Amino acid sequence: MNQKIALITGATAGIGRETAFLLAQNNYNLILTGRRKERLELVKMQLESNYNCKVQLLNFDIKKRKEVETALLSLPEEWKAIDVLINNAGLAAGLGPVNSADMDDWENMIDTNVKGLLYTTRIISPWMVERQSGHIINLSSIAGKEAYPNGSVYCGTKHAVAAITKAMRIELMPSGIKVTAIAPGAVETEFSLVRFRGDQEKAAQVYKGFTPLQAKDIAETILFVITRPAHVNIDDLLIMPINQASARDFNRV
Ligand code: NAP
Repeated sequence: MNQKIALITGATAGIGRETAFLLAQNNYNLILTGRRKERLELVKMQLESNYNCKVQLLNFDIKKRKEVETALLSLPEEWKAIDVLINNAGLAAGLGPVNSADMDDWENMIDTNVKGLLYTTRIISPWMVERQSGHIINLSSIAGKEAYPNGSVYCGTKHAVAAITKAMRIELMPSGIKVTAIAPGAVETEFSLVRFRGDQEKAAQVYKGFTPLQAKDIAETILFVITRPAHVNIDDLLIMPINQASARDFNRV
């Protein structure tokens, strides 16, 4: 049976789900979170029937502070010894200029990408501090390093994740806790479908004419980061498709 424990927020799709499958094969029992309960149950069934892995599911909306607290605090004591926290749940909602973008989209992105990450970390990091051990991985983005037009608030949330990660790294260093930011360029997941509210054609345009990263590429990076020797901390990683050289520069054929 697997020995370590990883908690992955947003494990019903994309990077989070792919990371769950990879970690299940690499000595991790898993706590998986998300809003879509049936998807969580399917992932648990697939993992437990294929790998030596135990899975706990927590079904909550990360935007809601009370739900996050209640769910995480309900974990059985032995599941609170979390070795790796992967703050992955996040989204881009819409694409529009600051003078006309939808303010509900802004609130959704800020509440999910920034506040949700903080709520989760605020509950779990004290457990790590108590054990003087742990590793927190925050999913930032190329949008956390550059800004692009019509993405002011998404870029703002990911810049916030980058800054929060840097401060966390310093704060948690004396407790022996590792902290890493992973910043991908374009990854083909449900991300663009969510951004364009289910418009498949618009979502497909994002990845047209080049080979985007796949969720597996990021999952493999996460596995690399968490399997470094005890004295090594990977602070910050930017990972791009070969045909994307900035937030806006693509070589499409
Ligand atoms: P995805 O396929 O859309 O998956 C997003 C995950 O986040 C889903 O499991 C979703 O679960 C969860 N989530 C979203 N809102 C939530 C909420 N309010 N409460 C709980 N869970 C929530 O997207 P992805 O590409 O894998 O994105 C994962 C992370 O990578 C995000 O932080 C994203 O910003 C970042 N990222 C993605 C890209 C890219 O190009 N794809 C690039 C750079 C960074 P439910 O809907 O079931 O709740």
